[in-house]
Amino acid sequence: MSAGHTTEMKKALEIRIKGIVQGVGFRPFVYQTARRHRICGSVLNDTEGVIVRAEGEDRDLAEFLRDMSANPPPLAMVMSVDSVEAPAVGCADFVIEKSLMTAERFAFYSPDTAVCEPCRKEFFNPSDRRHLYPFITCINCGPRFSIVHDIPYDRINTSMAAFEQCDRCRAEYADPSDRRFHSQPNACPVCGPRISLYTARKELIETDSDEAARMTVSLLKQEKIIAIKGIGGYHLAADAKSDAALRELRMRKRRPFKPFALMAGSLESAERFLEISPVERDLLLSRERPIVLLKERRELVSRQAAPDLSYLGLMLPYTPFQHHLFSIDPDMVLVMTSGNVSDEPIEYRDETVFDRLGRIADYFVTYNREIIGQGDDSVLFVVDERSFFIRRSRGYVPAPFLSTESLATILAVGGDLKNSFAVARKSFIIMSQYLGDMADPLTYEVFRRTVDHFMRIFDARPEVIVSDMHPGYLTRLHAEEMASSGRRRIEVQHHHAHIAAVMEEHGITEPVIGIAYDGTGYGTDGTLWGSEFLIARRGSFERAAHFSNFPLPGGESAIRDVWKIGISLLHQRYGRDFPVMRRDAETAGVIEIIEKNINSSLACSIGRIFDGVAAILGISRTVSTEAEAAQQLEEAAMRGKAPDWPFIIPFADNETIVIGTDDLTAYIVSLVEKGIPAEDIAAAFHQAIIHTSTAVAVRLREKTGINVAALSGGVFHNRILLAGLMDRLRKAGFTVYTHTAVPCNDGCIALGQIVIAKDKFGK
Ligand code: ZN
Ligand code: ZN
Ligand code: FE
Repeated sequence: MSAGHTTEMKKALEIRIKGIVQGVGFRPFVYQTARRHRICGSVLNDTEGVIVRAEGEDRDLAEFLRDMSANPPPLAMVMSVDSVEAPAVGCADFVIEKSLMTAERFAFYSPDTAVCEPCRKEFFNPSDRRHLYPFITCINCGPRFSIVHDIPYDRINTSMAAFEQCDRCRAEYADPSDRRFHSQPNACPVCGPRISLYTARKELIETDSDEAARMTVSLLKQEKIIAIKGIGGYHLAADAKSDAALRELRMRKRRPFKPFALMAGSLESAERFLEISPVERDLLLSRERPIVLLKERRELVSRQAAPDLSYLGLMLPYTPFQHHLFSIDPDMVLVMTSGNVSDEPIEYRDETVFDRLGRIADYFVTYNREIIGQGDDSVLFVVDERSFFIRRSRGYVPAPFLSTESLATILAVGGDLKNSFAVARKSFIIMSQYLGDMADPLTYEVFRRTVDHFMRIFDARPEVIVSDMHPGYLTRLHAEEMASSGRRRIEVQHHHAHIAAVMEEHGITEPVIGIAYDGTGYGTDGTLWGSEFLIARRGSFERAAHFSNFPLPGGESAIRDVWKIGISLLHQRYGRDFPVMRRDAETAGVIEIIEKNINSSLACSIGRIFDGVAAILGISRTVSTEAEAAQQLEEAAMRGKAPDWPFIIPFADNETIVIGTDDLTAYIVSLVEKGIPAEDIAAAFHQAIIHTSTAVAVRLREKTGINVAALSGGVFHNRILLAGLMDRLRKAGFTVYTHTAVPCNDGCIALGQIVIAKDKFGK
């Protein structure tokens, strides 16, 4: 053997990298890193991720490996790096090879992200060839999830396949030193997608994107409503400072109360009317660009944006076209709400959009590239400098969660409300985007289509299918249909799934005291649960405490008439001669329904107790969305003053603790009869729930020795309750966990279902 750099001295490795490593500039990054460390060999994408064949000196190889994991490109998410020794073949150079198709088709690609700073600068640079070109993008930014229909992530498998690159684009695409090397959506004004502005009757007005942007801004100023095709679907845009435009939008969209999301041109512009903490600022400026709920500081936008609420949802521009609009008028604030009618899914298909949104929008800004993976904007809020999801969608999906290895591939269909489903494969869990409520037939159709889409892009052939146990859930029906030959199927209890999701997020394997404060979920005894204290493990649970049952007149579907729940609570405690609420022919009808037990399921849902109390206090009567009354009650409580001594609701300390809903009703009534203002009673009510919950948790700790509390359920969107209960529990010595990576509402159900199924089948 001779000394020096001979092939005999070299070692070779085959390195397999998994995670989000496709479409994020990973191969050129490997190429440059290899060159730097005198490594020869190759890199290529396959359907599992990236494979590197590296040959070099021992020390160079070690440094190469270290650098690859230490500084990956911005959109990459390296989840595992495995290397095995291979025979050295004596290569001379490092090359990027063509993608390989292998039997195993499993790779991730990045979520859609906001346009990056270098691209944004080029966009506004008059001498750049992409000046004001709305589809400017590079390997570090732009659409991904929304344009992919198959793996591997190559242009041919995206909706960019329809556009053939011009020579200049092709040269960038082929140049490993270029920011657009292998950037699949690479395009320019010569070869790429184009924007068009249409009237609602589909008459073409403008195809020049600068002109289209200018006309859009001027139409918005004239209080017109414009449908604008974004990344995951259409937005409906309107001038947020115009009462008339927003009133019109509410009427046309059939959405009387639910707040509209806003978009401001910059952080400075948003700070004119909103309080923004450092954590909130980082979220707003993150490449995921979610909607963040922010406290209103000063009245600048119309009251119609979020009637009676002190928090407004706002995001900053993330597409080049949005930046373009705000460059024309930096002070403008827009409503940018999902383009849909009422509770239907977000509109994203050009074939149907004029039909479906034609009665809402006056004009349409659209473009000729298909959206494949649709999705709404994500929504978060911040409490005590920590962020919480309300909706996990654009910008976050389909980034996987790393989990314990699962032997079986599992599909969890989630729940019927705020649906998001999940797939578990090997050591990954992938959650779908937010899909909405299955009561809407179009949403159910989108759910089924999106399940198929995920099965394809993650090549998942589920062996186990999990659903909720609710007999009326369409998601459960779909699971039943899918669970044909050879597939195992399980059903899990709703609140167990809630708590299991928290356990997964924090890697908890020991039993916890789970507190699921929720709307309604089907219980193992056939009643509607929703104020559950569970002693929960990953695979099983016992129901340890809950509020006492009360009838829900009209059942789960009647939640819009919250006054009926108020009547029910009062009637349950006082009988027919109940105080406070008015008695008339209408209430007599409700009492009859309750007394004759017609369509009045028993429930203990704390979400419904919030509704009923809001009704008793005269704060809400009928609502248009599920959480509306609870939000109004919380708003009232924020204005009110709680008593110095909180009321602890008596609870019956049997094998299962039952908290006295009737005692709570009597407490509220006593405060009303003392003439205490509704706002102060609302505050007292929140404190009663917080202190009683803590007392019950302490009692359960005495019984079980468990000192870990896990909080989940949609009712924890209530800031007073979330912050207050976490604080009280911590002061009582508990370790407290709640959601950070998925919403606490039913958007977390599928994750919990996966955990429970894995405990049964996947280990
Ligand atoms: Zn870019
Ligand atoms: Zn081009
Ligand atoms: Fe729930």
